[in-house]
Amino acid sequence: ARSVMWFRRDLRLRDNPALLEAVDAGPDGVVPLFVLDPRLWDSAPPARRAYLARSLRDLSARLGDVGLHVVRGDPAEEVVRVARRVDAVSVHVAAEHTPYGRRRDQAVAAALADHTLPLVATGSAYAVSPGRVRKGDGGRYRVFTPFYATWLEHGWRSPATDAGVVPWLAAGGRTHQVPEVPVPAGLTLPTPGEDAAHERWRAFVARDLDDYGTARDLPGDDRTSRMSVHLRWGEIHPRTMLAALGRGAGAEAYRRELAFREFYADVLDQRPDSAWDYYSAPFAAMQYDSPGSDLVAWKEGRTGFPIVDAGMRQLLAQGWMHNRVRMIVASFLVKDLHLEWQHGARHFAEHLVDFDLASNQHGWQWVAGSGTDASPYFRVFNPVAQGRKFDPDGTYVRRWLPELADVPTASVHEPWRLTQPPADYPSPLVDHADERREALRRYEAIR
Ligand code: FAD
Repeated sequence: ARSVMWFRRDLRLRDNPALLEAVDAGPDGVVPLFVLDPRLWDSAPPARRAYLARSLRDLSARLGDVGLHVVRGDPAEEVVRVARRVDAVSVHVAAEHTPYGRRRDQAVAAALADHTLPLVATGSAYAVSPGRVRKGDGGRYRVFTPFYATWLEHGWRSPATDAGVVPWLAAGGRTHQVPEVPVPAGLTLPTPGEDAAHERWRAFVARDLDDYGTARDLPGDDRTSRMSVHLRWGEIHPRTMLAALGRGAGAEAYRRELAFREFYADVLDQRPDSAWDYYSAPFAAMQYDSPGSDLVAWKEGRTGFPIVDAGMRQLLAQGWMHNRVRMIVASFLVKDLHLEWQHGARHFAEHLVDFDLASNQHGWQWVAGSGTDASPYFRVFNPVAQGRKFDPDGTYVRRWLPELADVPTASVHEPWRLTQPPADYPSPLVDHADERREALRRYEAIR
């Protein structure tokens, strides 16, 4: 018997339960398939496409002479075509929980069922799949802390055993090469692939895990794990990572962050509408400004607030931004510029290589005050105070804003206070104290 292993965002061979199932069902051959779905591929921004193409090539190289069978088209047609051509008995995937992923998989399952072929979903991109963590009465969580407690109690499996020698099978017929995608000018991408993910993870655990709890908030130190992009494409499974975390304070803090990723996936699973609509409905009625030149200045890192501009420029240069700074720039967009969070979320979606619908949209909604256990709306991030606290010596802002290279540390987060501010750096777009009051006024109106 033969089977098809349809890879999506699980671009790895190790710790892959769906692959084990595929091997079980297809001892005479497993076809490794990837579908370039125009609905996803054509709308993906260049940075993400470039990363994905490289990760696919890495996966393909691991499959020996057979290589990854890449087709382009509607999965509901292409998956069926490949499965029938090789006379497979089943098609294997890891379950997907995003709104589009679920619709697509239903359509593919229905198309396969017409030929009495099953689409078998095993595992997911999470240690505990969305929907599994439940309250005593079976209800779902809307607040992180109790979710976290139950998630810990629920626990997760150990990493899956190795698939060993897989009888990879070429599907024949028409196949596409993984497209060559140039890396956009000025962008540096992390090394993709399963080995790179494991190497990065080992290096982080050895060097930075112990004091992760405190170091994670300092963007200048740059000592977070940078695992988000590898998790995004499933080059490593969170279960593999959780298995390496012991009991120390750093490990506890890291486990909690991984749980945030799982929580937001669970919330999006409960409320698919929250991908682009307000999770908390009253916020839709708040007064917002129309996007104009302010939004452009924010996107280009020209707001005149160093910590905001440094973050926005890091995003363009690396397709990644430090978590603390993501919060600061998001707060600035919503509460200083009074723009709806979706404008910012869309810009992040266009540039983040680790873009994840659940984490991004709910990260934005949390800052905007409209999300789950939202940061109370009246807590407005002060970009100068945040800069001073989390980038005390200005390392981070100087790294991304060469205009501020020579500004003394005392003024590096408010260069407008200098008698001679750097000529090539913009003056502040807004008065933060005024805009804070304005944000609170608008909030009062919907309370
Ligand atoms: P580390 O600090 O090393 O964290 C380890 C892992 O825990 C991360 O890789 C990630 O998987 C998870 N994690 C950490 N913080 C969070 C969090 N707040 N929410 C969910 N998961 C978390 N993360 C994404 O993966 N994709 C996104 O598109 C994304 N958009 C965001 C947008 C905003 C406005 C905010 C505030 C946060 C966003 N995050 C997103 C969460 C977080 O900023 C990134 O996961 C983190 O910066 C990635 O870097 P790292 O791997 O070095 O993180």
